[in-house]
Amino acid sequence: MHSIKAIFFDRDGTLIHEKPGTYLSDPAKVRLYAPVKKALQKLAKAGFSFFIVSNQSGIGRGYFTAKEVNAVHARLQELLKPVVIQEIVFCPHAPEEKCNCRKPNTELGKNLITKYNIDPARSFMVGDKKADVLFGHGLGLRSVLMTTANGKTHLRKYPDLRPDFIAQDMAAAARYILREDSADE
Ligand SMILES: [Mg+2]
Ligand SMILES: [Zn+2]
Repeated sequence: MHSIKAIFFDRDGTLIHEKPGTYLSDPAKVRLYAPVKKALQKLAKAGFSFFIVSNQSGIGRGYFTAKEVNAVHARLQELLKPVVIQEIVFCPHAPEEKCNCRKPNTELGKNLITKYNIDPARSFMVGDKKADVLFGHGLGLRSVLMTTANGKTHLRKYPDLRPDFIAQDMAAAARYILREDSADE
């Protein structure tokens, strides 16, 4: 079977606005960052499939339910139209539960790579935290760190963090990915 190239996105602070220290569970409060839709349209045109891998520890902490998270994701897919996210997966556990699916653990990514026959060498991870960068590298992807929400703080806090690219918005991330992608061909 032919392999595909994919981009894995973090959700909060990467595709949609994040209020620091808060948990989003209300679909009405989902707001895309301005450059996201156009950037994803360009990337889709270049042949990338899209996935979201998200840590939703608010479920494990009892702040909201998986049902509410799914409602947020339905709203997100609605706002992104005509862009399609192939699949959205999330870890529902609190950090203390020490699961294998909370980023930077790679279980959710591995499952998607197998299910969709994704070629990691032609694929990317885009997120705004240390855990996102490590998740990408753990899977053999190139990692883009967004400075939209937590990225700047995490660069300062973790000087050893080595994302492959630092992007101030999704337009810049897309330009980097398209540049790399033409070098991959
Ligand atoms: Mg994030
Ligand atoms: Zn988990």
